[in-house]
Amino acid sequence: MKRQPLALHWKVLIALALGLVAGTLVHQFWTPSVWASLGVSDPAAFLAFKPSDANAGAGLPAQAARFLGDANEFVGQLFLRLLRFIAVPVVIFSLIIAVAGVGDVRTIGRIGGKTLLCFGATLIVAVVIAVALGWTVKPGSFVTDEARDRIIAQYAGESAQRVQTAHQLKDEGVFAYLLGIVPTNPFNAIANAQMLQVVASAFLIGIGLTMLPRERSGPVIAFCEGLAEAVMQLVRVFMLAAPVAVFCLIAQFVSVVGVGALQSVLAYCLCVVGGLGIVLLVEYPLLMWLLTPRANKMTFGRFFRGMAPAATLAFSSSSSSATLPVTIQCARDRLKVPSEIVNFVCPMGTTLNMDGTALYQVISVLFLAQLYGIDLTLAQHLTVGVMAAVVAVGTPGLPGASVVMMAIVLESVGVPTEGVAIVLAVDRVLDMCRTIVNVAGDAVACVVVAGSEGTLGKDEPA
Ligand code: ASP
Repeated sequence: MKRQPLALHWKVLIALALGLVAGTLVHQFWTPSVWASLGVSDPAAFLAFKPSDANAGAGLPAQAARFLGDANEFVGQLFLRLLRFIAVPVVIFSLIIAVAGVGDVRTIGRIGGKTLLCFGATLIVAVVIAVALGWTVKPGSFVTDEARDRIIAQYAGESAQRVQTAHQLKDEGVFAYLLGIVPTNPFNAIANAQMLQVVASAFLIGIGLTMLPRERSGPVIAFCEGLAEAVMQLVRVFMLAAPVAVFCLIAQFVSVVGVGALQSVLAYCLCVVGGLGIVLLVEYPLLMWLLTPRANKMTFGRFFRGMAPAATLAFSSSSSSATLPVTIQCARDRLKVPSEIVNFVCPMGTTLNMDGTALYQVISVLFLAQLYGIDLTLAQHLTVGVMAAVVAVGTPGLPGASVVMMAIVLESVGVPTEGVAIVLAVDRVLDMCRTIVNVAGDAVACVVVAGSEGTLGKDEPA
């Protein structure tokens, strides 16, 4: 009997586990003394190709080790660049054909309304879970003053930079922020990957197309459809390399950072991961179970099997924007959500729907308040929730984006922004986890909207 090839999501998960093991081994055992035995006394300079007398004895084995590390990083970054190359065209063409394909402005309003309702409802639940966890677990009470001061000193420089970026963002004010979403030049938005502006541009062009007679809009829509199909075909090809890329990305990350950074803030990390787990494993499945028709229930297993490639990629890239093409592919091909819904919901979701980010920000701000001994009132807890929800909507789907935005929430309740240094120490790991939730949330919205439209699982016309 011929053996079935292993499904992609299994390959990616196995690669993820192997990457974790390989990275941990390198982090533990590839110490400066190993470099020294290879003739390298200043590894930092050697790895950065800086000439140094200390490394004059470096021979072929040392060069080979450096080459291997660089090649590993190259493969992971190449994969991410290819996906990023696709992210902007996917948003534009998918959204134009989705909006134009819906046909009339009333239907766009209906589907758009349901989508925003779903984004809003899941966001509110995520924030409530976060406030409840932060309030009851009190992760800040588990850190000693000594550990707090040590981490702040270590990450002070980096955190100051992020806080400054947040100030620049905040100083704009609400109306300037809203105006900033409206593109004055769509090509500028595309060139600078300003995702909110790109979404707005595609939306406007799509609406314009619905107002034209079909014989005028038809060729433009067909052109966009052709390009959207072409980029999605590229995603299918790129995904064949996903197991290798995921291995490289994880191995590189763990080999540099290790898992030791987690120790002193373990309770906080567990609180965030626990909250994300509740959203992912309880809130989302329950919502889909309740809101999909009986004939086509989206079960727990079906959803997670379908979304596994996107989830593992979200975990290893920490970027919902880079994962977008794969999210679309999984929702469409594996969860059987019709293209017109996927193309509409996912591109908007990557920019607007950030449940994991909101949850993370709430728990982090409450954690820091507790750490600094600041007693927040109930009203201040609510302020944190509301601010985090608003800030999450404006957070781009990029690695570490939350930490920049968090300073705004911290300041809303008077928690010292230097605390950003503490969460920065463990941010990357938590970023990997919250990005899974951000990506899964988009797929949940696809399923719920398609379920309510009665189109979930319907075969698409060829
Ligand atoms: N990395 C997250 C994402 O891409 C954003 C964040 O930092 O929360 O979805």
